[in-house]
Amino acid sequence: MRTRRGLVALLGAAALTLTACGGNGDAGDVSPSDFPEGSTMAELADAGSIRIGTKFDQPLFGLVGPNGVPEGFDVEIGKMLAERLGIAEGDIEWIETISANREQFIENDQVDIVIATYTINDARKEQIDFAGPYYEAGQSILTLADNEDIQGPDDLAGKRVCTVSGSTPEQNLLENFPDSEVVPFGAYSDCLQPLRNGQVDAVSTDNVILAGFAAENDDLEVRGEPFTAEPYGIGLAKGDDDFRSWINDQLEEMFEDGSWTEAWEATAGTVLPTPEPPAVDRY
Ligand code: GLU
Repeated sequence: MRTRRGLVALLGAAALTLTACGGNGDAGDVSPSDFPEGSTMAELADAGSIRIGTKFDQPLFGLVGPNGVPEGFDVEIGKMLAERLGIAEGDIEWIETISANREQFIENDQVDIVIATYTINDARKEQIDFAGPYYEAGQSILTLADNEDIQGPDDLAGKRVCTVSGSTPEQNLLENFPDSEVVPFGAYSDCLQPLRNGQVDAVSTDNVILAGFAAENDDLEVRGEPFTAEPYGIGLAKGDDDFRSWINDQLEEMFEDGSWTEAWEATAGTVLPTPEPPAVDRY
């Protein structure tokens, strides 16, 4: 299944030597022999690289900056996991995943993990597995700041609401707000222009994604309190229980040792309050 890793195993040995000589943080202190033989952790450590799917257009969580590398809380979680596999930051391959293709990218072995404001739910668990949660968001609403009509989800009846195909907010709107007209796009950033030119009345997705857009644009405002629970997980291949359990261990360590809080405060925490870490769900 993991053919790509076999191909890069030789290169990986060279990369490990380089990271051991310098690289970043503690990546050089970890060796493939620290992990059970044949495990995904050993394979990744041996390859010296990891492919992480994330969002490229979401401020605070995963946004590609001027240097072409994504930045945000999801990205920081990815870097910390890579480091714990002995993989230096520069050896992470960031791959853009959008809401609709995350399960598919994992199933097709196009990525090793997905960290992308990715809600854990049972439907998705039929195709993939989730470590985490590492954060809990909730669905909310974004409007133009001068819109007086929409203050919360009950005001969405008869309104055109932009969201993203394949997302849980889309599903929730379709199922529970049948009087609103759902306008789906491929990514949340695609909703901003239609909102400004009046093609849609509101954008709906997780509060923290909307908060990122509102923080960057004075003409936009988040409305009302979150009205769903969106626990963010790390997507991985279904049935890879050792890898899932290892990621869960790492998350718990990050919660304990302050690195999770530090990562939050450097990214999403510049706009949002610092939460308590959630409880990992080892289902
Ligand atoms: N957390 C929700 C989801 O996974 C919405 C955000 C997103 O589309 O990434 O569907």
